[in-house]
Amino acid sequence: MSVLRPADPASPPEYARGDHPSTCVAVVGLGFSGAATAMHLMRQLPAGARLWLIDPEPRRARGLAYGTRCASHWLNVPAGRLGWEPDREDGFIGWLQRRYGAYGAADFVPRMLLGDYLADSLAAAERAAEARGVQVQTLVDAVRGLAALPDGAHELQLASGCRLRADRVVLTTGHLAPEAPRLKDAPPWGSPGLIDTPGSDASLSALPEEGDVLLLGSGLSAIDMLTWLQDRGHVGGVTMLSRRGLLPQPHRSLEARPRPGLQAAQVLAGARGLAGMLRAVRGWAAQAQTEGHDWRDVMANLRSCTPDLWQRLSLRERRQFLRHLQPWWDTHRHRVAPGIHGRLQASLRAGQVELHAGRLQSVLRRDDGMLDVAWRPRGAVSGALVHRRVAAIVNCTGPSARIGHAVHTPPGSLWASLQAEGRLSIDELGLGLRVDGAYRLLDRAGRPQPGLYYVGPMLKAQHWEAIAIPELRVHAKAATEQVMRGLRLDLKV
Ligand SMILES: Cc1cc2nc3c(=O)[nH]c(=O)nc-3n(C[C@H](O)[C@H](O)[C@H](O)COP(=O)(O)OP(=O)(O)OC[C@H]3O[C@@H](n4cnc5c(N)ncnc54)[C@H](O)[C@@H]3O)c2cc1C
Repeated sequence: MSVLRPADPASPPEYARGDHPSTCVAVVGLGFSGAATAMHLMRQLPAGARLWLIDPEPRRARGLAYGTRCASHWLNVPAGRLGWEPDREDGFIGWLQRRYGAYGAADFVPRMLLGDYLADSLAAAERAAEARGVQVQTLVDAVRGLAALPDGAHELQLASGCRLRADRVVLTTGHLAPEAPRLKDAPPWGSPGLIDTPGSDASLSALPEEGDVLLLGSGLSAIDMLTWLQDRGHVGGVTMLSRRGLLPQPHRSLEARPRPGLQAAQVLAGARGLAGMLRAVRGWAAQAQTEGHDWRDVMANLRSCTPDLWQRLSLRERRQFLRHLQPWWDTHRHRVAPGIHGRLQASLRAGQVELHAGRLQSVLRRDDGMLDVAWRPRGAVSGALVHRRVAAIVNCTGPSARIGHAVHTPPGSLWASLQAEGRLSIDELGLGLRVDGAYRLLDRAGRPQPGLYYVGPMLKAQHWEAIAIPELRVHAKAATEQVMRGLRLDLKV
């Protein structure tokens, strides 16, 4: 495995200058989407081709979700339904059983194991590709800019100052950084006790080990933070505060796969508009229950036709969905593993954790370093604030869903530079990026950009359901086919 770091004296200042193989593809970002795309490319690129894998994170194939080092951060999908290949759902469970023997397909397991599986799979695919004469090189670096070259190739500008050339570029940079709520006169996020990036090791180690903690959010990110605090032996109470105070629903115990017999496409074929779809899904859930099924079976069956339903909604209806229904969609669709749910409920019953619905109003730092916070409970008239004194506040609102915001922050980032050059098209709702049917990024004028592809959660602008493994692995495979199709046309093979 060849890994180059910018500080490595052996790395040439311009990795690819004067050394152009016949075909060169760059995958930018090596989380799940990048790793899956890279593995498909490794199988299909011709001998003599070069594949660059670029990510500032030295631990390959983990990304935001699977890079956690906390054993209580569990997958929210049973092990038997995960794998990087769409047609091999048993990829992960096969690996787990070979390595550890004990796991079954219905088990929920720590996310870090999926990261290990992906890293192992990537290394194996790389060995096979190199044996076929494909050169694979990993660069521990970030891409800051992309220039289109006159011959149709791209020049990638890296944070280290290095540049490299690629015929095709697949952007798989994943989730956007969380956006912390801004409050007038509050101490800045990132100052002691105000943690805005809970995913980073540096932020976590800055958290005080004692004292009450306020978690902003009550979804999967907040539950991740809570279990991390509990595992660390945190001394003090934890309060979760979110607009509606909703928690993710639990998965069923020993859920292996949805029960057969329910046909989403048939049930929803005649449903018109958002209201019609909602009625049809509610009626279907009630009916399913009388037949011995569960609403989770309905959600599972709905999944494959969600992109079609999303595309059938008008812009106004999509807005209505985001405003009124999304919180309920999220808590039913993005469920929590039964073991973690049980642990959360026990903490709530014991009073170690409190859950509140409301909106944060103010944060003031006291002379002793503690933070005085106040929030307005949901539905309360103005003036009725709840006050608390805490040692820390952690922004657990999860990755930002606003690409429109991310293209400006931080300045100098890849998205900011592409936006400034008019090389992005963001959907009207600011949910994600527009691509054509071949996964090529559309520019501001709506034109597909030759050789520049995107795979990742920002496909949700077009598909809505596009942020988890079952969908991303399908997109990674389909995008690879498009990249290869273009290359074969170029090479006339
Ligand atoms: C906490 C969490 C838990 C989840 N749990 C599950 C689950 O249990 N089951 C499930 O199916 N889905 C789950 N998901 C959904 C998850 O989003 C996807 O499964 C997947 O992780 C998305 O992968 P990605 O590669 O697109 O993005 P990311 O994981 O965000 O990876 C993107 C990578 O790109 C790199 N990068 C960013 N910018 C640049 C740049 N300019 N240059 C180079 N590299 C760059 C980053 O360093 C990162 O490594 C979870 C998501 C989160 C956030």
